[in-house]
Amino acid sequence: MLQYSTGAAEYSILYTGTWVRQENSLILYHLGHLLLEILTKEIISCGRCPRLRQHSAEIAQVKRRAYRDQTYWGLPVPSFGDPAARVLVLGLAPGAHGSNRTGRMFTGDRSGDILYKVLHKTGFASHPASVSRQDGLTLHDLYITAAAHCAPPGNKPTPEELRNCRPYFERELELLPNLKVIVALGKIAFDVYLDTLKSRGVITSRARFVFGHDLVYRPAPGLPVLISSYHPSQQNTSTGKLTEEMLTDVFRRARRAAGRISKKNLAADETR
Ligand code: SF4
Repeated sequence: MLQYSTGAAEYSILYTGTWVRQENSLILYHLGHLLLEILTKEIISCGRCPRLRQHSAEIAQVKRRAYRDQTYWGLPVPSFGDPAARVLVLGLAPGAHGSNRTGRMFTGDRSGDILYKVLHKTGFASHPASVSRQDGLTLHDLYITAAAHCAPPGNKPTPEELRNCRPYFERELELLPNLKVIVALGKIAFDVYLDTLKSRGVITSRARFVFGHDLVYRPAPGLPVLISSYHPSQQNTSTGKLTEEMLTDVFRRARRAAGRISKKNLAADETR
């Protein structure tokens, strides 16, 4: 039984991942949903990384000229998506003038522009663009989280900051009972997931996991498939390292993998 040291005692007892996984009843679905909402509130009020909190708040004060008339979010950005998701997207961290401004993952910058276009094309998002928390966009069968929930200077959280934030990701893994596929956007996200598996004793070494674009791994029987992808950062997309077609391939693969695993046909999707 897994238990978590953070949070109030009464629901630390309920964070028993396996309990939620074993029964896929409506009651447990709603319980998981409720616990995700509690987790969201914890993330928004988190202060474990003073450097990141200060940076996010400063950006929110100074602003970019184009957004001068907007009120920036400036807080840790919570995860977003469908609590029944089979696919989990693990990104890096909020963009300074993207989700640090809008308060929703991958919303309001170039990374989000390409990601949501692709998610819409592959049937995971209701709209092809995400501009604000109030734009009505919903995700289906997909949940988006990040290795760090606060905008870091230079888009580079420190190893300590990543370690600080990882417990939130680990709780999400337990609270999303239908997960079949993890899509890691970028090497940092890929490493964070592997570190999580290593700390849980699921894998003993990361040696066989080589980061690359559109590569598929099955870390252990019964665990979600891991797909690695280049991050849809402006740097990668403007240089052509990552194109819309390449990212579309990743999410088409994720959908196929989620369906195959749901049907218990586990053998066919080992590394490419
Ligand atoms: S990065 Fe994560 S752990 Fe650090 S302050 Fe933000 S929410 Fe908290």
